[in-house]
Amino acid sequence: MSDKLHRFSLENLHVRGEWVSLKTTWKEIQKTADYPEPLRHVLGEALAAISLLAESLKFDGSLILQIRGTQPVTMLVVQASSEGTVRAIAHWNGELPKGATFNELFGAGTMVISVENNPKAGQNKGERYQSLVSLDGETLADCLKEYFAQSEQLSTRLWLAADDDCVAGMMLQSLPPDGESDIKSNQDHWNHATLLADTLKDEELLTLDAQELLHRLYHEEDLRLYDPQPIKFKCTCSPEKIDSAIYSLGEKEATELLKEHGSISVDCEFCNTKYNIDDIDLKRIFIEDDSFSLPNTPNLDGSKTLH
Ligand SMILES: [Zn+2]
Repeated sequence: MSDKLHRFSLENLHVRGEWVSLKTTWKEIQKTADYPEPLRHVLGEALAAISLLAESLKFDGSLILQIRGTQPVTMLVVQASSEGTVRAIAHWNGELPKGATFNELFGAGTMVISVENNPKAGQNKGERYQSLVSLDGETLADCLKEYFAQSEQLSTRLWLAADDDCVAGMMLQSLPPDGESDIKSNQDHWNHATLLADTLKDEELLTLDAQELLHRLYHEEDLRLYDPQPIKFKCTCSPEKIDSAIYSLGEKEATELLKEHGSISVDCEFCNTKYNIDDIDLKRIFIEDDSFSLPNTPNLDGSKTLH
């Protein structure tokens, strides 16, 4: 299993963590579009980040990190499901300046992290949560560091790395203090754990396996490494979701599109699957089933191309 995520804990430091490495998944995603550097690098880091965040949150559905930029990168979306699948996409205009920084890629952008629970999920069915993240940091990990520092959550940091063959990341999170007296020692433990993690080089994140990497950082601590979980590329598009996207256009507009082009073609840019809607499909969508109900996540996060 080359693509996996390990949970771990530093028991004596009251810190939990995750480590992820994706190779096959990253290759699959790079096949869907010819992402130029330095966007490819940021997309890879975002993919590692969403994998780590998905494992740390409780949800039954999708976790989405989306950046809307001004120029030259106008959109970046990475999505993880509670089933251990991920997908990613980015849109850009023209040539990207060599060595452009994170901020230079997106301009005056905004980042949103959202959780969308499945309509049929248990306790939180159909619920959505959104958090706005400032793009002030110099890297994606910096932005997320600020976000965690400002939110009410537990101290959390991510270390991310990407090259053409691999994306990898590590996350540390301080556990809640047991009592008042533990707040200071908790902070000391957190500082110690993150100071060591800050010595990590990208190359180490990308090449060492979990055991080697954690031994290199924390061989003096009480480390517990849990069994790995697989992560893989899988798109969540489906004929049903395309039907609902067409339905959301409205019958008039969909019929006009169909008249104009003979059929409606919808491309999923996450996986390059092409869906064709003809007049029989349109009848099925609008006439035969008036009670057609929209699923919770009908949109394709900007991936939809109608022509
Ligand atoms: Zn797809």
